[in-house]
Amino acid sequence: MMSGEIILDGSRGEGGGQILRSSLALSMATGRPFRIHRIRAGRKKPGLMRQHLTCVKAAARVCSARVEGDELGSLALTFRPGPMIPGRYSFSVGSAGSSTLVFQTLMPALLTTGSAFEMTLEGGTHNPAAPPLDFLDRVYLAALRRMGVSAAISVERRGFFPNGGGKWTVAVSPSNALVPLHLPERGRMLSQKAKVLWNRIPPQEPERARAHLSGSLGWDPADIETEEAVDSPGPANVILAELRYEHITEMVTAFNPFGATPEALCEGLMADVRRYRESGAPVGWRLADQLLLPMALGAGGSFRTMPLSNHTRTNIETIGLFLERRIEAREADGGSVDITVPAG
Ligand code: ATP
Repeated sequence: MMSGEIILDGSRGEGGGQILRSSLALSMATGRPFRIHRIRAGRKKPGLMRQHLTCVKAAARVCSARVEGDELGSLALTFRPGPMIPGRYSFSVGSAGSSTLVFQTLMPALLTTGSAFEMTLEGGTHNPAAPPLDFLDRVYLAALRRMGVSAAISVERRGFFPNGGGKWTVAVSPSNALVPLHLPERGRMLSQKAKVLWNRIPPQEPERARAHLSGSLGWDPADIETEEAVDSPGPANVILAELRYEHITEMVTAFNPFGATPEALCEGLMADVRRYRESGAPVGWRLADQLLLPMALGAGGSFRTMPLSNHTRTNIETIGLFLERRIEAREADGGSVDITVPAG
């Protein structure tokens, strides 16, 4: 393992919050301190927002880190980790900020301890620029379960952007030895389902979405569910499409906090569904950037994915700064990319 402080420029590549979150995870897992400047310089409101600050404070609590610059709006941060203590934790984003991103910051690092842990999180569970809780469970954790992780989520209430206010608990027990994850192909399609999640919007809107999905877009009406998310303290208007294959499940989400018509929302969803279907790759472009950390800190592996997003490229770079091993990305057939992650 390399040692010494890592210096990061937060404006590189994607220039968003992920460089910081990945650095926190890698620092906790490797024990290497880091300093990051120009945090989220690529975003409209740069610096630490509530979600990022919660990630910093949560990471610091789990490994008793010494931190400088942990304030809202801060553009620079120093993080010196101590040993991780797996256990039972509660973290609150204190706004509609994404609670799933807080979990994804801590999870890959805590897995390396080989011990069980539990976390209760409060904040947004369905946010436009983050993994929705359904995706976290059905796609991200489903892939991690194949690595030997056992994780169970219980939801007290969901919190949709812009109001947030969700609360959920996840209990994780890693297996004694994590196994490599290999996902070269999807296998047979098993099912495709859509769910319209709504609350405090005119009830004809979810019905219009259902009608459009089945009428113009060809989904079997039996595979479309509408659910009134009565547990949510604020309005909800989200459509989730779940595509289940033998070796992978993908979920595409369309969010509507800003008043698009139900038909426009369905069209947006279907554009993403088509893109995934036509690519033929098992790992979607969002799951790709999220799998890199648990694989790199775990037993490695390989997968085929869609053309790389900026998030994935930046994450490969950030992981390379902390670990001695390099993640390889090679162009494959039809624009797909084969990723190889060496074992830790
Ligand atoms: P920013 O710094 O851009 O304000 P941020 O800190 O929320 O944002 P990003 O750096 O943009 O974070 O990372 C967002 C993460 O959420 C990425 O891992 C991305 O793959 C994931 N993500 C975004 N939208 C979805 C979605 N619809 N389904 C699954 N994952 C998603």
